[in-house]
Amino acid sequence: MKSNVYDCIIIGGGAAGLYCAAQLARTSYYAGKKTLIIEGGSRVGNKLALTGSGRCNLTNTAIELDNYNSDDAHKLASCFDKYGETDTSFFFENILGVVLENKGTLIYPATNKSSTVVDALRFYLSDNNVEVVLKEHVTSIERSDSIFEIKTDADTSRLAKNVVIATGGITYPNTGSTGDAPKLLESLTDKTCFIPYRPALTSLTSDMPGIKAMAGIRCKGRVKIIGSEGTIKAESEGEILFTKDGGISGICVMDVSNAVVQLFEDGDENVKAVLNLTGRPAGEILQMLYIRRQMYAHRNCADALSGMLLRQVTEFVMKHMGLKSDKMTLRELDDAKMVELANNLCALPVPVTGYGGVDKAQVSSGGFMLSKLDDNMQIKYCPGLYVIGEAVNVNGICGGYNLQWAWTSAALAAEEISQNV
Ligand SMILES: Cc1cc2nc3c(=O)[nH]c(=O)nc-3n(C[C@H](O)[C@H](O)[C@H](O)COP(=O)(O)OP(=O)(O)OC[C@H]3O[C@@H](n4cnc5c(N)ncnc54)[C@H](O)[C@@H]3O)c2cc1C
Repeated sequence: MKSNVYDCIIIGGGAAGLYCAAQLARTSYYAGKKTLIIEGGSRVGNKLALTGSGRCNLTNTAIELDNYNSDDAHKLASCFDKYGETDTSFFFENILGVVLENKGTLIYPATNKSSTVVDALRFYLSDNNVEVVLKEHVTSIERSDSIFEIKTDADTSRLAKNVVIATGGITYPNTGSTGDAPKLLESLTDKTCFIPYRPALTSLTSDMPGIKAMAGIRCKGRVKIIGSEGTIKAESEGEILFTKDGGISGICVMDVSNAVVQLFEDGDENVKAVLNLTGRPAGEILQMLYIRRQMYAHRNCADALSGMLLRQVTEFVMKHMGLKSDKMTLRELDDAKMVELANNLCALPVPVTGYGGVDKAQVSSGGFMLSKLDDNMQIKYCPGLYVIGEAVNVNGICGGYNLQWAWTSAALAAEEISQNV
């Protein structure tokens, strides 16, 4: 059995764990102190390397706090007041040496490669003598007086004055994030501190006739989620992507998926995604349909509308109306049918049968409750023990929100640890 005493042991070498170690290394109060990262995988930053389709959308210049879910909106606001996007951009550019580039409000490394971000963190930790142990899963944390003992599946035992849980959530489990935080904190905290992890930012599935034939089609539009009692639970606009397995995805769909997960959790079996597949209001579409009927009355509907709609979209929507787009001419669509077609193109009710699981979701909802942590992510009744990143019950929409939470929570924990050692 090996043994060692560290000022801080960070469990998990993902975005939050790496950033926390880098922030500690940067702080002068912490000079000469010892940090260790224990990572279960064979390398650090596995999930970080996948972010932003391999480009890493690391933050956003226009973060709106309403776009986060958490159990403590007030604390979340104070966290972002203390450490936000400008602090992150400053650290990446001036300390880690990563040139950043804005795409609208989204910020990426100028290389357009997430490996640049992972490498910058790795190199900085190596320059600052932060130890990293790979391929060891932490299996337990115990506390005696003010020292923690951390055991791993490699039969190692290490001691630390401070411990940071940065084990992530449950999504993309092949990157190493398997929702270990509740298990690791079992003997140190109360179960009620955890909200069960669930997939968030995920795709939706449907058994609507004809939806599989839409696989690969992208429509710029709008999605609204409606439960059985008929009110709009969430809405978003952007590109809707029809998936191979008969469903919808894309950023705007992922952004409303939390509402679907919640409805299913509440036992609602009549969830609909109402899709605008045109990006325009129904009145405008109706005018366009009338003009086309004057110009191309003799053509079949799919051909007549092909200049304004993809054929698959016309076929899918007309199938829902019980009509065959290649078998009837536009002349045969009377005014009532024209109105119905316009309305369906702009508000197509798609029954939702489920949502993508942990292997498809980009982030988890749930985790250690923010309200049970102090302003620097320390568990309120357990001095020296911190929870950061996706392991905490904070999740946001797409667009750099989730990584910004990883950076913010990591920096806050590092601030307090560096002052306490
Ligand atoms: C495909 C995809 C794309 C994404 N794109 C973006 C994006 O562009 N912008 C954005 O803001 N967010 C994005 N996200 C979300 C973002 O990646 C996460 O929110 C972020 O990585 C969370 O960081 P974390 O450090 O808390 O957890 P993770 O990155 O999941 O890291 C946790 C680490 O802990 C390790 N670990 C777990 N348990 C143990 C244990 N018991 N012992 C030792 N080690 C352990 C794991 O191996 C893992 O390396 C994306 C997510 C996915 C899946």
